[in-house]
Amino acid sequence: MPIIAANFKTNHTRKSSAKYISLLSQYLRTNSTARVYVFPSYTALDEYEHLANLHIGAQNAYPTQTGSITGEIGAVHLEEFNIKTILIGHSERRHVLGEKQEHIAQKFEYFKNLGYKIIYCIGEPLEVKEQGLEATLDYLNTQFENIDLNYEHLIVAYEPVWAIGTGKSATIEDIQAVHDAIKQTIKQPLLYGGSVNLGNIEKICALNNVDGALIGSASLEVEDFIKMIENTKEL
Ligand code: PEP
Repeated sequence: MPIIAANFKTNHTRKSSAKYISLLSQYLRTNSTARVYVFPSYTALDEYEHLANLHIGAQNAYPTQTGSITGEIGAVHLEEFNIKTILIGHSERRHVLGEKQEHIAQKFEYFKNLGYKIIYCIGEPLEVKEQGLEATLDYLNTQFENIDLNYEHLIVAYEPVWAIGTGKSATIEDIQAVHDAIKQTIKQPLLYGGSVNLGNIEKICALNNVDGALIGSASLEVEDFIKMIENTKEL
């Protein structure tokens, strides 16, 4: 049963997210063939209808209950809506917002101790990819520093930075090589992310050692997202 996740990033309002999630829930009530995650923006978090195969998560939060961190939200803000799932280490937080591995690892530890399901993202920039597989794996290993890879509620997402939001997915061979290598050390589910769309999701999710997909741009229309779940349900 694949894991299919939608990351809205800075898209969708509270109103459009609610509509999206309601249509998706309607579909998932009678189609329970995938484990689905949706990460709306902070302002769209809410206590949505509970379904066993649909998890609403936060794209980020600060590792604190409450505090004086202007512009951030803490665990109380997630708990208000029963949110127990969080994305940590997304490339936009690492590379656009400058989050360092030390802080990311603290965040991981904090939410792990609260029992959250964590989708932990890793991925190499283009200049590293161009140096080959060994350099890529070395780089990815640095993103595992101080991360408990045996955490039972961990899902890892391999998302090459150069493939995110560019329309240029990694090749099937690249995905296979990296996933095979990561799976030698990690038993937890491993998703691929980076320009996954309706045209390539089936092929990617059918690969050995690919347990599902994390999708940004191509998940924004709920009809497309549902089609992607449909297209992978036999895998
Ligand atoms: C993402 O944001 O995690 C992502 C994979 O984005 P996109 O699908 O747009 O490349």
